[in-house]
Amino acid sequence: MYDYLIVGAGLYGAVFAQQKTEQGFRCLVIDRRNHIAGNIYSEKVEGIEVHRYGPHIFHTANEKVWNYVNRFAGFNHFVYSPIANFRGELYNLPFNMNTFVKMWGIRTPEEAQEMIQRQVAEAGVLNPKNLEEQAISLVGTDIYEKLIKGYTKKQWGRSCRELPASIIKRLPVRLTFDNNYFNHPYQGIPKGGYTEMVSRMLDGIEVRLGIDFLEQKKELVKLAEKIVYTGMVDAYFDYRFGELQYRSLRFETETLETENYQGAAGMNYTDDAVPYTRIIEHKHFTFGEGNPGKTVVTKEYPQVWKPGMEAYYPIGDDVNHALYQKYKELAEKEENLQFGGRLGTYRYMDMDQTVAQAMEDAR
Ligand code: UDP
Repeated sequence: MYDYLIVGAGLYGAVFAQQKTEQGFRCLVIDRRNHIAGNIYSEKVEGIEVHRYGPHIFHTANEKVWNYVNRFAGFNHFVYSPIANFRGELYNLPFNMNTFVKMWGIRTPEEAQEMIQRQVAEAGVLNPKNLEEQAISLVGTDIYEKLIKGYTKKQWGRSCRELPASIIKRLPVRLTFDNNYFNHPYQGIPKGGYTEMVSRMLDGIEVRLGIDFLEQKKELVKLAEKIVYTGMVDAYFDYRFGELQYRSLRFETETLETENYQGAAGMNYTDDAVPYTRIIEHKHFTFGEGNPGKTVVTKEYPQVWKPGMEAYYPIGDDVNHALYQKYKELAEKEENLQFGGRLGTYRYMDMDQTVAQAMEDAR
């Protein structure tokens, strides 16, 4: 009946389905959840667009991807500039001149550089082998101790010495007064929200919600020539080689009777003693849109993933990579079956990478 059965109505699944439909193929998209848009799903509460599975800020340097998403949504001019809160001291992120001035009372890029170099020399880090050494070699010990150590331990559930240096390389370090968290030239939040954007991608495509593929696999596979699976690759193969590890999150969302709670979309709590990593105040993604006198905030509590929970972050260590390779080899042997997206390919992917990958795979 269909050329493609696409399992998962998240960003990857929606882009893949949209592209294949445009090429003239018949697609059916299914999802286990009762809504589309996967983890970029957002919905209105008190007139405020709430990011239900964590904050998503679209940013890219890829012009093709930017032009593509703009077919389905206009984007506002939001620029992510989160604040770090360490025991009530507030600092600008990412690490830039505003952070250094507040931390050390210095004034110039030269003074900031001297300060960092002195701390790196005192710590004696030459060849960073783990996240702690990498962080110190980038920004010195003060910033590591106050803004990185506790946050990272909470986020990943391990000490910075047991984590790969690569995790922290995502963050820019700048000797300018620039609080933009990202280096990409294009950035914004879709006007009307992410769910509406995905819904436009899926316009005219058959979508069935509340269907668990793995539970009804036998009947479902008969519906299409080819399957595109965006769920967990280890679950697809019934955990044959064992479970891949993930970090999960618990979100605590509440509506507050206040106009403006924290004055920023994101505030990171970098002290290990605070159990959550950050508080998101959703209305600031759209410049305060929403009912007057109300705001919606979400606290994020990282946790170990266990079966039945939502898997958010793949763990990028050697053990998990090796295990994923075994599943990947298995996946490549399957005919008419392709894996995609963050869970299907066990990769931490930003939204723009997800769109780019889906476009390429569809091609
Ligand atoms: N990080 C940190 N303090 C912060 C923000 C980030 O130490 O206030 C570190 C932490 O190790 C985190 C990494 O930088 O895992 C990458 O941060 P990013 O914001 O890119 O994480 P995301 O939530 O987007 O994965």
